[in-house]
Amino acid sequence: MPEEPIVHMRTFIHGIAEEDLIGKQSDRLLISRVKELTAGKILVGHNIKSDLEVLEIIPTQARVRDTAEQFAWTLGKQWPSLKDLASQKLGIEIQTGAHDSKEDAFVSLLIFAKEFSSWKNDLNDDFLQKRKEENMRSSPFYCRICNIVCASSENLKAHIVGKKHAKKAKYYIY
Ligand SMILES: [Zn+2]
Repeated sequence: MPEEPIVHMRTFIHGIAEEDLIGKQSDRLLISRVKELTAGKILVGHNIKSDLEVLEIIPTQARVRDTAEQFAWTLGKQWPSLKDLASQKLGIEIQTGAHDSKEDAFVSLLIFAKEFSSWKNDLNDDFLQKRKEENMRSSPFYCRICNIVCASSENLKAHIVGKKHAKKAKYYIY
């Protein structure tokens, strides 16, 4: 139960209804319990940076296995959704009804388990940066002149005829 009053439940985002909170422990207590449970553990999730911030957990990169970070710039998107990754990596459809945090957590764990080997060496920033660049270059909507990835083929087409691209292309040696 949060200590501050709830202004808007936003159940459609997280699937938690107001009645789910009745009689539950305070968030302060919960935060300390989560801290206890996660100490020294590897944390797996999808785009969990802000979740960890709320829980006051400052993880070192080595402890987090984030499926959003891991597959950044894949599937033609900077941050592919968990729904897209579940479909591509596991061949399953998720988030069909109300949002379910437990389902999300479980699915990112499944993706992590399946793609475990790709995480093996990602303990240093150089490696992460290199892989990010590789992912970017492999996107079908990548512009090698500007070193950016567009969100769709329409965006790429618009980009190619745009001012920013023209400026860069002028100085580009083919
Ligand atoms: Zn460009």
